[in-house]
Amino acid sequence: MKKPLRWSVAFVLLAMCLVFTACGGSKSEPTAATGGGSTDTTASGNKDDGGDTAAKGGTLEAIKARGKLIAGVKYDTKLFGLKDPTSGQVEGFDIDIAKALAKKILGDETKIELKEVTSKTRIPLLQNGDIDLIVATMTITEERKQQVDFSDVYFKAGQSLLVKKGSAIQGLEDLKKGVKVLTVKGSTSAKNIREKAPDATVLEFENYQDAFTALKAGQGEALTTDNAILLGMQKQDPNYVLVGGTFTDEPYGIAIKKGDAEFVKTVNDLLKEMKDSGEYDKLYEQWMGVKPE
Ligand code: GLU
Repeated sequence: MKKPLRWSVAFVLLAMCLVFTACGGSKSEPTAATGGGSTDTTASGNKDDGGDTAAKGGTLEAIKARGKLIAGVKYDTKLFGLKDPTSGQVEGFDIDIAKALAKKILGDETKIELKEVTSKTRIPLLQNGDIDLIVATMTITEERKQQVDFSDVYFKAGQSLLVKKGSAIQGLEDLKKGVKVLTVKGSTSAKNIREKAPDATVLEFENYQDAFTALKAGQGEALTTDNAILLGMQKQDPNYVLVGGTFTDEPYGIAIKKGDAEFVKTVNDLLKEMKDSGEYDKLYEQWMGVKPE
């Protein structure tokens, strides 16, 4: 009994020693943590900091030290964030909002790195510190608020259905047993449709282009997600139409690592400035084709 106990005491002491050395090392070299530009993401991105680091170190400081904003955006969602395979350009309403933020923080909208997220990957990527924020058709929900903080609402959508023109499906009431409805993993759409149409079969895809391709290939009778995203698909192929109106509220927010009040304020200030100056309305109309309500 005695020997193992002594060993474990020695081990604990050794471990404490190492911890102190590591702490001492980083304290004695403060410039190494701020000067290189490569350590900046860790300032906001310690994997297990539970949000505290972001609150103290601050995402804003990390962005400034790095000299660019890293925004998590969609590459598969026409009107919000869509990558043109030919030009490699990513375009949409969310992209323009992210660029405006880069301009506000760094004085130049090109000081931005766009990183692709999907509905399923966006929260883990934010929590890992791979991205500074999420601007990706993301609905503010109570459940998500446990994991991330949100800006004020910057877009109001609602869930709807997309079907082939002439389809027998015209609304939620037609999603009966045997009907296959397509949607995307990690979205509120997947969760909502199971509640609203419990008899239908729900098939989930990695992203919205895959889901739309599956609809066109006849793998399901309807695709469900936010009306504004479905509108983008309808623009891509007018043989598909929205039906049944909207059956949920999907207020979009910009997601930020939990506990960084300063950064949330910066984002909210920008949204307000954009609304006050008319820039928001201009962008909205440019992408949606109508004025905001
Ligand atoms: N707005 C919904 C959501 O946040 C659907 C769109 C998406 O998957 O990003 O889940």
